[in-house]
Amino acid sequence: MSQQPVTVPFVSFRPMERELDKELRAAFDRVLQNSWYIEGREDAAFEQAFAAYCGVGHCVGCGNGLDSLVLILKAFGIGAGDEVIVPSNTFIATVLAVSYAGATPVFVEPDLATYNIDPNRIEAALTPRTKAIMAVHLYGQCAPMDAINTIAKAHGLKVIEDAAQAHGATWQGRRAGSLGDAAGFSFYPGKNLGALGDAGCVTTNDPDLAKKVRALGNYGSDFKYHHIYKGQNSRLDELQAAFLAAKLPHLDRMNAERRRIADRYLAEIRNPAVVLPTVAAGCEHVWHVFAVRCAARDALEAHLTARGIGTNKHYPTPIHRQGAYAELGIPQGALPLAEEISATELSLPMFYGMTEEQVTAVINAVNSFKE
Ligand SMILES: *Cc1c(COP(=O)(O)O)cnc(C)c1O
Repeated sequence: MSQQPVTVPFVSFRPMERELDKELRAAFDRVLQNSWYIEGREDAAFEQAFAAYCGVGHCVGCGNGLDSLVLILKAFGIGAGDEVIVPSNTFIATVLAVSYAGATPVFVEPDLATYNIDPNRIEAALTPRTKAIMAVHLYGQCAPMDAINTIAKAHGLKVIEDAAQAHGATWQGRRAGSLGDAAGFSFYPGKNLGALGDAGCVTTNDPDLAKKVRALGNYGSDFKYHHIYKGQNSRLDELQAAFLAAKLPHLDRMNAERRRIADRYLAEIRNPAVVLPTVAAGCEHVWHVFAVRCAARDALEAHLTARGIGTNKHYPTPIHRQGAYAELGIPQGALPLAEEISATELSLPMFYGMTEEQVTAVINAVNSFKE
């Protein structure tokens, strides 16, 4: 047998698709037979299942993760003149949601060990206008919720979880989505629980908030042709709800497989040039992203590419340096930790169905890199 070099894509959905092929096709057939495509029994069934999974009273489906956060902010009445604390290192959607609601994002730097917001820096960023803290569970690990909730309580702020990267992650045994006043999830295909298209949801224990979010996502309507808010159109399609319901029972197993891959990376990657991610006490990480840091990041990326290993950067330009946020006038160097992560972070392959051989190939390639 000839030695084929093992190539490893950054991400592949094929193993999951092959395994769930029958269930996904059955979900499609069921929706087609029902001949009902928006706000029906599939949506209701998935919402109930996902609320139970997260350990909350309510789940409201919506169009995508960005909308889920916008709907929460609007439902809390947060808008023009208000400020919302956001981490300086996150996917831009966290911050765009604040802008869409009409409020102003205020960046707080992360803890370099966990990549999540550093709670010790939050109080210095609060003003009389601050209304909420966006607790982003970045890369699949919960933010430091005890400190965040303590600060929020002391200052009368809402805590909104951005759980788009953290389906199934736990903090002190409780799941992401149940750790603040409300949470937004994305079911973008690449997330740990992904639809076959765009989708999202809001989870909360507050029945009035859930009702308001549902109305805001349905033209501001509480019943047909009766409009109490200037709402938007952001609903979870029956088709996507049916696919998500088919995939949800497999989420824990698929997250466990990500943990198995991460555990091998953490145990076997040994390169003084590469800083490995840290799992915080009390957190069960679901490894949406396996983020390493390397001063010679671009050289490491080239080294891995040359060996057939796909990588990614989360995220190559910090949000305060994007053209979209030039209006904030935050100069280069003002948020050095976000800038440091942008300049040095590299994400290694991480997906359900990666073979041991592929994991070994990634480990060997990283270990053979010299600055
Ligand atoms: C993906 C993501 C979102 C947005 O979700 P979409 O469904 O793509 O709109 C928001 N926040 C974070 C942290 C994300 O990773």
